[in-house]
Amino acid sequence: MERVKCLIIGSGPAGYTAGIYAARANLSPVVIEGIQPGGQLTQTTVIENFPGFPKGISGPELMDNMRQQAINVGADVRSGVVTAVDFETVPYVVTLDNGTEISADTVIVATGAAAKYLGLSDETKYAGMGVSACATCDGFFYRKKVVAVVGGGDTACEEANYLASLASKVYLIVRKPYLRASKAMQDRTLNNPKIEVLFEHNTLGLYGENGVEGVHLVKRMGEADETRYDLPVDGFFLAIGHKPNSDVFKKYLKTDETGYFVPGDDSGVRTAVPGVFVAGDVADPHYRQAITAAASGCKAALEAERYLSSK
Ligand code: NDP
Repeated sequence: MERVKCLIIGSGPAGYTAGIYAARANLSPVVIEGIQPGGQLTQTTVIENFPGFPKGISGPELMDNMRQQAINVGADVRSGVVTAVDFETVPYVVTLDNGTEISADTVIVATGAAAKYLGLSDETKYAGMGVSACATCDGFFYRKKVVAVVGGGDTACEEANYLASLASKVYLIVRKPYLRASKAMQDRTLNNPKIEVLFEHNTLGLYGENGVEGVHLVKRMGEADETRYDLPVDGFFLAIGHKPNSDVFKKYLKTDETGYFVPGDDSGVRTAVPGVFVAGDVADPHYRQAITAAASGCKAALEAERYLSSK
């Protein structure tokens, strides 16, 4: 079985930054890219809040740059998905989806988070037929059409604005009477003439013969003036947050009730398992920014180096 000094699982800002630092520290890291190489930022449009890019940079380009930088300094970036881990004894063993096992002296888990769905059976029924959790991936298919976006946070507003640049009309379905998004994003959304915000609305289901043709809505659910009606739309986009990708590791690493890793101490990256570190969104229910993920990837790699040199 191949044995490496440092195995990094995940390829978002945390994983690639860990790869850059670990490679420059001569740890010869192997980075396993996971289901979505480049992570969530590959699904965003322009990123204006990552320092160093005064005119902004597209998410895919930023992630390509990070990947290339990691490779340039010596990280071994490989495709593959981790399906099992054994953190019982050193070296730790990680199994990939193709059956390959790799043993590692240190492991950095930077597996990020995945989009959440409402849990309606219709989301599965119409998967790929009008239901999507990624406006930048699928928005193209809705040029001059009518779409709905669910959610009231920054992601939902960002997706609604992006879709408004393509679609003829965007409904934003928000369950509360206000948006949770940042003030700037709220202003952009509320002032976009193509976006209509449906406050205090919930989705009951979807309808359509050969794909989504509309959404069953309820306004002021549970109140005396509750109203149910159908809204014709061609596409239905989810933007209600994310679930941390921690399931494979739960036997060994502590998580909170929503699945985010709880670090073993105030370093934020060390876990109760010596030599196993966590970084990025999978361990961050609070900030979830590219820059904070990159910072924790850096910290995890520095800790891995310290751990190995103390042995
Ligand atoms: P958030 O958790 O911030 O928002 C989720 C939204 O979805 C909320 O409005 C929530 O409603 C709603 N929601 C959750 N579950 C349901 C449900 N079952 N039915 C209906 N609505 C539901 O997630 P985001 O993905 O928007 O953002 C995550 C983090 O990333 C935030 O910190 C955000 O600021 C950041 N971000 C920053 C960006 C930027 O700076 N450019 C871009 C995108 C994200 P409710 O309010 O009622 O709970």
